[in-house]
Amino acid sequence: MDSVNRLIDAKDYCAREGAVNVKDRIMKRHAKMQRKSKVPLAIKLDVLSARPVKARIELGQVIADCECGCAEFVDMDEPFFYCFECFNRRDGGALRPVVFPDPETWTEITRLVLLRPVDDVRGLDDADRAAGSRAVIYLEQEDGRHLPLTRTWNPGESIEDLLKENEAIEKWELAKLEMEKETVEDEVGE
Ligand SMILES: [Zn+2]
Repeated sequence: MDSVNRLIDAKDYCAREGAVNVKDRIMKRHAKMQRKSKVPLAIKLDVLSARPVKARIELGQVIADCECGCAEFVDMDEPFFYCFECFNRRDGGALRPVVFPDPETWTEITRLVLLRPVDDVRGLDDADRAAGSRAVIYLEQEDGRHLPLTRTWNPGESIEDLLKENEAIEKWELAKLEMEKETVEDEVGE
């Protein structure tokens, strides 16, 4: 089974939850929480805050972080962020813009991140599978630690950084071929 071959973003969750777009999803989630809450939960769907959040990729998922410690799925085509932990309190409930790299750079980042092989067989759908994905390649650090090569990108990481990390993929593929060859030779030898 092949790994998920695209990034998971807020659109996936819109589809899953029956929302027509990101704003609609925010509105529906907010309304649901408001029904349960006795205190009014601030939200200003048509006001944009001057404090943007930055998109990043974690395990093949496009998210952005709030300073309060919560993260939400975001979408490049509708870059609005509303935190369901602090309710954008510091922004008076206004939606925050989401900053992405320019489209060309983003396409390349996406391509390079998705080249990384992952073990993602578990899960009901692509979104679940990405969330539960595990690295199959580990990068040895100078201090001897091994860090997983996941489908992750953080703002500030350049295309060159990703290419450098991705060098491990070729080595891994060669080692895999070598192992397969040995297995075949063992079988022939028996
Ligand atoms: Zn927050």
